[in-house]
Amino acid sequence: MKCVRCGARASVRLRRHRTSFCEKCYTLYFERQVERAIEEFDMFRKDEKVLVAVSGGKDSMSLWNVLLEKGYRVIALHIDLGIGQYSRSSRGVVEKFAKEKGAELIVYDLKERYGKSLRTLIKERKKLVPCRICGTVKRYVMNRVALEHEVDCVVTAHTLDDCCAFLFASLLSWDLEQISRQDVLLDAGEGLVRKAKPLYRLTDEECRLYATINSIPFVHEKCPYSRGAISIQLKDMFDQLEKKIPSVKQQFYFGFLRRGKKAFQKNVKEASLVPCRICGMPTIEGRDLCFFCTLMRGEK
Ligand SMILES: [Zn+2]
Ligand SMILES: [Zn+2]
Repeated sequence: MKCVRCGARASVRLRRHRTSFCEKCYTLYFERQVERAIEEFDMFRKDEKVLVAVSGGKDSMSLWNVLLEKGYRVIALHIDLGIGQYSRSSRGVVEKFAKEKGAELIVYDLKERYGKSLRTLIKERKKLVPCRICGTVKRYVMNRVALEHEVDCVVTAHTLDDCCAFLFASLLSWDLEQISRQDVLLDAGEGLVRKAKPLYRLTDEECRLYATINSIPFVHEKCPYSRGAISIQLKDMFDQLEKKIPSVKQQFYFGFLRRGKKAFQKNVKEASLVPCRICGMPTIEGRDLCFFCTLMRGEK
């Protein structure tokens, strides 16, 4: 097996592209895929300020590294959710990497800032799926920090696997509004910073390879609340499918971006947003408080 680029002995095989690379050329391939995503959708430019959300996992650490290597004006944001050892390990990995790279990092401790850790929020709201609470908290904090730091774009490390699982989950419930909002680039709105997903062309496994080859540290343990999460089961399902039909993930998701998205967007009216009475951040019209403030106040 030879590297398609340089002819050296290949050590990485990508079935979905029917291609093989040596480690050096694989790194080039990976970084090129990120740049291609950024350019194709005009996500952000080199002179703009971007905030990358880093959990400490392989995907976000890889993305952070690519953005630094490629000379983007990047600030990293790590949200310390306060879920025991998992949060301590994640924060440790992120802080160490920032120091080594001389990279700008903001650590946002949820309990310190708002008096409640994610663990407390989950205990208070037993009926809600933990990932839903966590997702709300992360999106809220990212947007808020981005506004405070006058950032042009918030960047998250959602991979092709994440995008497939999320799209499929919303198809299962035919939540048209949620389906139509899925995209790799969401424009800025009143009180909302532009959002982009530059890893949408790459899989979880490809991120793991990139991080390993380039000695990028990452947390190996899984979030303790992710056990049994539907997103993980859907990812497994796509992995199984991909074994039989290589490139099924990209067919499904890229096809949605090219054709499916427009069809759904036509049929959905966008919800109007109004400022939350407490924090002033946008919330859906008709609601007094945003979901984040509702959670933090312990209201139902
Ligand atoms: Zn090569
Ligand atoms: Zn609020």
